[in-house]
Amino acid sequence: MATLELEGIGGKPVAGTYEPDLASCMIAHTLTPYSTVVNTGLFINNAFVPAAGGSTLQIENPTTGKFLATVSAAQRSDVDAAVAAAKAAFEGPWGTLPPEKRGQLLNKLADLIERDADDLASLEALDAGILFGESKGLHIPQAAATLRYFAGWADKITGQLLRIPQGHAYTTRDPLGVCGAIVPWNAPLMITCWKLAPAIAAGNTLVIKTPEAAPLYGQKLALLVREAGFPPGAINVLCGLGAVAGQALAEHMQVRKISFTGSPGVGRRILRAAADTNFKKVTLELGGKGPSIVFADADLENALFWTTLGITANNGQVCAAGSRIYVEAHIYDSFLFAFAERIANYSVGNPLQPSTTKGPVINAAQKEKILAYIDKAKASSIRPLSVGEPIVREGHFVPNSAFADVPEDAAIMREEIFGPLASIARFTTESEAIAKANSTEYGLSAAIFTNNVSRAGRVSSQIQAGQVTINCWGVLHANTPFGGVKQSGFGRDMGEEALDSWLSTKTVKYNTLPSRM
Ligand code: NAD
Repeated sequence: MATLELEGIGGKPVAGTYEPDLASCMIAHTLTPYSTVVNTGLFINNAFVPAAGGSTLQIENPTTGKFLATVSAAQRSDVDAAVAAAKAAFEGPWGTLPPEKRGQLLNKLADLIERDADDLASLEALDAGILFGESKGLHIPQAAATLRYFAGWADKITGQLLRIPQGHAYTTRDPLGVCGAIVPWNAPLMITCWKLAPAIAAGNTLVIKTPEAAPLYGQKLALLVREAGFPPGAINVLCGLGAVAGQALAEHMQVRKISFTGSPGVGRRILRAAADTNFKKVTLELGGKGPSIVFADADLENALFWTTLGITANNGQVCAAGSRIYVEAHIYDSFLFAFAERIANYSVGNPLQPSTTKGPVINAAQKEKILAYIDKAKASSIRPLSVGEPIVREGHFVPNSAFADVPEDAAIMREEIFGPLASIARFTTESEAIAKANSTEYGLSAAIFTNNVSRAGRVSSQIQAGQVTINCWGVLHANTPFGGVKQSGFGRDMGEEALDSWLSTKTVKYNTLPSRM
């Protein structure tokens, strides 16, 4: 089976600096050239195998826009094979494994991910264009923390004891069986672990469909799964096209749950596929159009720091991006001036280089989509606050941009762009800010900046979103649930609540009355 050798740049982390804010999540690193080897096959039953008919897909490096690697592309029959392997594991060795052993395996996987963080961060930089420092400083620690958090849950899954007229009943919370995880490209390892960790802690087996634009992390993860000692079939990793491999997984009669993160359009298809087949459980983490509300009583420096990060982190390719910024009238002009200055300050380059603060977006289509939104806003005479010059170099680079006084009905205020483009508008009253924040069909996340604790509580209670951050943006923790309301989807990743979605409750009733003839 083919292997692929890729060159990366190893880093030396600055110890203990990734809490408490996202800025220091960026691990400073030194340039240490090295290469890493991944297998390019499908990972089924702990073995790398070619796809049916030798199907492959070619991936590109968004930094150059050029060919990077060829990997196997799963076909429907490969999905069948992976599901069969996962079913055999569930009904065999995996199903009888003591729960604490599942926890140990998850902890071991976390150890290996931390050990090979340089490889994983380099792979995410190479095919997804994610800054090495951001991947290593934020995504990889988050992935490992999530594995450890759910490792702790594996032997603490309990039920209830209930009284009934006939005697008593108890409930058990049982695994669902074979489950599927379908993952996007923007933080692929971290999002995979948000699904893998609770699925495995709960006792399920898993087939992971990695994103076709950025699958290399998954090829490496598969090696680590095997090294950690997971039995064959417990975790299977397939790269493949969404419309082929993803669709086949969503339609599969033996798959009992799909956990999906991605776009609303594909989310709809998955829900439809579940309804048309076996009513498998579905959780959907879809996009967002996150509002950030900056009140005049906020610490302005702090608000500027987080709102800037909220639209520039990962080039705005973040579902929770703070892409709508509402600023109270008293401080509107001073905020605009400082915000424009900050977002114009970046260093474009290769995401593997320590000095780079802006890498490429994922592909040409994403670049064109972002530039089209900028052109449309300009054509509609929306006030350009800071519209960066086109970045003329090979690869898929876009400048940071912001527009001011953006009307509520403008496309850049309503639609998810998934790029570094902020839409800013003013408000004068608290109720106006809340109404504007709630005015889209999305409801993933929101940020509020104020030093008034009563206001923070009052406003957050009225915001329609799965999570609200006060005086910060985007902070993630394995023990806090993450997900959306409205068209941002349903179900949660992380936190105790996520575990529930990978379990099914069974009630057992005892008749302890004297027996009747
Ligand atoms: P996408 O929906 O195009 O693809 C996501 C995954 O679904 C990929 O693995 C893809 O191969 C697969 N897929 C595509 N068509 C499919 C089909 N017919 N059946 C089954 N699977 C299919 O999204 P993307 O372009 O990879 O990511 C960007 C989108 O994801 C944005 O809309 C963003 O907001 C969203 N997103 C949401 C979150 C969240 O937590 N809410 C996180 C990251 C990204």
